[in-house]
Amino acid sequence: MVAGGGARELEAVLDAAVEPVVACGADERILHINAATERLLGWERAQLLGRPVSDLFPARLHHFHGLSLPRYLLSRRKVLGGRPTRVASRRRDGVELMVELTVGASGEGAQERIVLTMRRLHEVIDTLEEPVEHVPGSPDDLAHSGETGDRLYRLLVENAPLGIFHFDRVAIITACNERFTHQMGTSKRNIVGLHLFTLRDEGLMACVRESLGGRTCDYEGDYRSLTSGKVLPVRVRFAPCYGDDGEVEGGVGMVEDITDRRRVEAEREAHIAQLDLLFRSAPVGIGFVGSDLRYVRVNETLARINGKPAEAHPGRTPRELFGAHAGSAVEDMLGQVLKTGEPLVQQESSTDEDLGLHGPRRHLSGSVYPVHTPGGRVLGLGVLVEDITERKRAEEERAHLYREAQEAIRVRDDFLSIASHELKTPLTPLSLRLATLERRLERGEHVDPSVLRHARHQLTRLTGLINDLLDASRIEAGRLSLHPEATRFDVLVEHTLTSMEGQRGNHVFDFERPPEPVSVQGDAYRLEQVVFNLLENALKYSPDGGTIRVRLAVGEDVTVLSVKDPGIGIPLDQQQLLFDRYFRARNASTRSYGGLGLGLYISRDIVERHGGRIWVESEPGQGSTFYVALPTLSAARQAPARTQTDRHLH
Ligand code: ADP
Repeated sequence: MVAGGGARELEAVLDAAVEPVVACGADERILHINAATERLLGWERAQLLGRPVSDLFPARLHHFHGLSLPRYLLSRRKVLGGRPTRVASRRRDGVELMVELTVGASGEGAQERIVLTMRRLHEVIDTLEEPVEHVPGSPDDLAHSGETGDRLYRLLVENAPLGIFHFDRVAIITACNERFTHQMGTSKRNIVGLHLFTLRDEGLMACVRESLGGRTCDYEGDYRSLTSGKVLPVRVRFAPCYGDDGEVEGGVGMVEDITDRRRVEAEREAHIAQLDLLFRSAPVGIGFVGSDLRYVRVNETLARINGKPAEAHPGRTPRELFGAHAGSAVEDMLGQVLKTGEPLVQQESSTDEDLGLHGPRRHLSGSVYPVHTPGGRVLGLGVLVEDITERKRAEEERAHLYREAQEAIRVRDDFLSIASHELKTPLTPLSLRLATLERRLERGEHVDPSVLRHARHQLTRLTGLINDLLDASRIEAGRLSLHPEATRFDVLVEHTLTSMEGQRGNHVFDFERPPEPVSVQGDAYRLEQVVFNLLENALKYSPDGGTIRVRLAVGEDVTVLSVKDPGIGIPLDQQQLLFDRYFRARNASTRSYGGLGLGLYISRDIVERHGGRIWVESEPGQGSTFYVALPTLSAARQAPARTQTDRHLH
């Protein structure tokens, strides 16, 4: 057959053939089988050599019309025209396999050679129907029922939702269904005959070995097709196949394409990772508590709120975690929800008072709700806790601001009514006096200069009020200008006292001063305004008269002026507020004591801008002493910055 080739080369050529080939002599005894035949029929070459070829077929097919099966098929060669015939072959283990058989012959007499070529039935595309069963006199029924059984198996295997392949004892794939070829991305021709160990996948090989050892085995991994390179995530269940003799004759693998499952798993993992991230990074404390009131899990925020690390929570009860007091308060809440099944929503508590926890007070808002399975079983409790300390503080701040705004509105309203009253009060007597004056002049009568003096006094008062209003608004706008220069403060006080002689009434001024001159760096006009205001108040708020003691003392750096009156005094809680704009103490009723509550406000601004300080000591009913401390001239020159403030000076 092969020119110049020996028996070995012939063997190699035949072994390379995919299809099983059996060669016999004229006596129909086997001369040669190839490797594919070994695989298909389960014989080893040496065992078959010399045996009758009929051993490869069931006994019922040994004879047709008095001819052996090969001879019968040879006799029909013309009719068949090279087409195969479907027959049942018989494996070594007795199992019948449907094969497509083609028989050819060459040579004459003793030189005759008969060659049988077989193909496993479900590995061929079945286009020709020429079963031997149709031959008259053939054992129709048996062959037919064999074919039906085989077809059923074939349907079963082909329609299975899994890739299925069979391999023999030496791990060579002998058969597979279409789905498997799809999964592998190659053709059946490439798969059948493939040695599983050549796949070089350790996991796969281990499973093949296991199944050939009689055990089932599961493999999961990414299978890379050797031929197409396609990568497929698969789960393969390997199981042994047993022959009639109870021996393992091979194995079967059922391949599940787990691409979808992997995708779903990956999606689920991503989903869980997202939820986990959400859980961890939520700005709200989230926790899950089992129905035994033990924490299952808490996020970082809740751990922070609870003041314990997140990993300290699982398996512990609140009591174990926070101690008896705080723990039982929390457990009571949890227990209540567990018992009633009713959620508790946004329960506010404070860490110190309600929970008895140490550390700075924090306000918490907590919700507890039962967590059910879809079937309605209570799994445990969900806990949401928010630290609302900041929100609470902001709320309180808002409420405070609101109260202040209300107060400011009230003060403004009061001020407007006081201001209009104050401004109007001097006008009526002024216009009366002017009318009297006019009348007298018309009549040529004598005009009493006191009428004019009084009129001027009303005007001065009006001017003073209006000036105070203007100064207050200048101060608010940062526009009250100062013109500081070296000023004899002792002279200034004395001068102010003298200028007030006219209005001191039945009061006595007692001025005490150091013998040496007292100089300050100041705006004389504004400082006089301060002294005047203190003296005016001392007179005004001492309605019963008495001595107003004015003292000027001087130290190295500071000179202190004090004005002490025997008047109504100031309630203790109001003393700090006297220097605020519009403030009037509650014992200084508008009716008895006029005033806009601006004098001390303006005085404080002036004194502080001179680097000084103004304050009061008083006991209600016992009189008051106002103090003004100013840096002396020498001190002011050493530290000029103290007397100059950062306000604008115009
Ligand atoms: P007013 O024009 O109302 O007197 P001031 O700013 O000068 O405004 O004073 C503010 C408030 O301080 C006064 O309304 C009064 O209640 C209180 N006050 C000021 N001086 C005295 C004082 N010598 N004795 C008692 N209360 C005083």
